[in-house]
Amino acid sequence: EIPNLSVPEFVLAAGKERPDAPALIDGLKGDVITHGQLSAYVERVAANLHARGLRKGDVVAVFCPNTPWYPVVFHGIAAAGCVMSPINSLYTPEEIAFQLKDSGAKTLITISLFMDRAAAAVEKSPVDEIVVLDGMEGHANLFDLLGADAPAVQVDIDPADDLVTLPYSSGTTGLPKGVMLTHRNLVANVAQTRALIDLQEEERIIAVLPFFHIYGLTVLMNQGLQWGATVVTLPRFDLEDFLRTIQEYKITRAFVAPPILVAFAKHPLIDQYDLSSLRSILSGAAPLDEQLALAVEQRLRKGADTGVTVAQGYGMTELSPVSHTTPDEGHEPPGAEGYQVPKGSVGFAIPNTECRLVDPSTGKDAAEGERGELWIRGPQVMKGYLNNEKATAETVDADGWLHTGDVAVVDEHGCYTVVDRVKELIKYKGYQVAPAELEAVLLGHPDVADAAVIGVPDKESGEELPKAFVVRAPGSELSEDAVMAFMAEKVAPHKKIRFVEFIDAVPKSAAGKILRKDLKARA
Ligand code: ATP
Ligand code: MG
Repeated sequence: EIPNLSVPEFVLAAGKERPDAPALIDGLKGDVITHGQLSAYVERVAANLHARGLRKGDVVAVFCPNTPWYPVVFHGIAAAGCVMSPINSLYTPEEIAFQLKDSGAKTLITISLFMDRAAAAVEKSPVDEIVVLDGMEGHANLFDLLGADAPAVQVDIDPADDLVTLPYSSGTTGLPKGVMLTHRNLVANVAQTRALIDLQEEERIIAVLPFFHIYGLTVLMNQGLQWGATVVTLPRFDLEDFLRTIQEYKITRAFVAPPILVAFAKHPLIDQYDLSSLRSILSGAAPLDEQLALAVEQRLRKGADTGVTVAQGYGMTELSPVSHTTPDEGHEPPGAEGYQVPKGSVGFAIPNTECRLVDPSTGKDAAEGERGELWIRGPQVMKGYLNNEKATAETVDADGWLHTGDVAVVDEHGCYTVVDRVKELIKYKGYQVAPAELEAVLLGHPDVADAAVIGVPDKESGEELPKAFVVRAPGSELSEDAVMAFMAEKVAPHKKIRFVEFIDAVPKSAAGKILRKDLKARA
């Protein structure tokens, strides 16, 4: 049963029962917004937006880093019946202008630190007003946003049809696409994941992944608030700030992406902090290697046989975003009670989610135990891409199945493992080699700090050959030949690395995805 409520009605309800408990804490500055204040501020923002002339369905773009004010702004926009289009904090003015134009945004909310880029973008866009969230420390300075005298508004929202957010996909494989998500999509997704979580009253969640990405918006922001828990925000990933915040606020859950776990496995700083409050680290957004997950768990448990668990979930913007996750112990789905999800796997389909694995060349279901393209059907599937019927029809078929573009396998317990994107597979002599698999093997080398793999075309054979970009560990003198020899020992001949290039850092998106298109351009 999906509650027939708007996102603010659903997400803010539990907090109203514990108005004095902290809803949001700024991990750097210590500012607190209680659940009671959050609800009150949200009403003020909605009233203020209405007084500024914004009406149901209007798009409001938000270009802000993670702070406690981000959820206030998001829920205020949603309560006004408007649609929040979150913009990536790293975007250039051109990229911002593209999203403002494509989404048809009327208003842009930003901070003064981002004002140069915001103003340059707005010139080339339909936006007619910029609201600056300045001096975020003091409530008094928020008069502009909270609009103290605007009369309260009550907007009729149809959760199944009205959009609440218009995020843009990460643009990993092409131009970002505007993804239309309804109130019901987000409400459903938060409700679906709840069943798999061992909820404790005093959970504290660290929100370092950006709220502008759907993972941050649904899982880090809304899931935590909907429990009535506390969300501790950080504006960017800095390892020391991250560790200090976990220690200081006794963080219980971290939802992260693989680059953070690479640091957890390898960085010497980790041992200098008390991270014993952590119960669960969940990774999503990109493939996470099993050995790496195990190494992090062991390092954090310091030899004890209980403590933090490291596990994975899977999703995409078009799925609001979650379709699969690893349940907390004791919350496995019927029939899989007590089953230990392998660390390289993304877990089970969440309740109310149907899955198929389809052979893309025949359109038929893959044989048992075989790989196939993952198709998903459920209440979290997007309404469609904005202004792009062709892309929508190619992605969501007439029967409501969303074709994820990812290759997966399922075991006999119903546990899924994501191999890689269909488009990223390196095609070599009839084989399909997954870059993610080779990257995981490379990371197992002690002198490799980070790595990324792409296929490069071989002029003579017309085949694609795996090329590795490697970041050497500090002080290491690892050679190209040593990397190739290491790989030749570990993988089958058709998966051998043929070229190696050393680089300073692997290019990654703010959500932690390897930007293979940048590496391809470079190669
Ligand atoms: P674009 O669609 O614009 O090219 P994108 O697909 O990277 O960008 P997102 O919606 O942010 O945009 O990411 C979804 C993708 O992330 C999935 O399709 C999948 O390839 C990858 N992904 C997410 N979680 C996992 C995971 N646990 N393991 C492997 N891949 C994952
Ligand atoms: Mg995608």
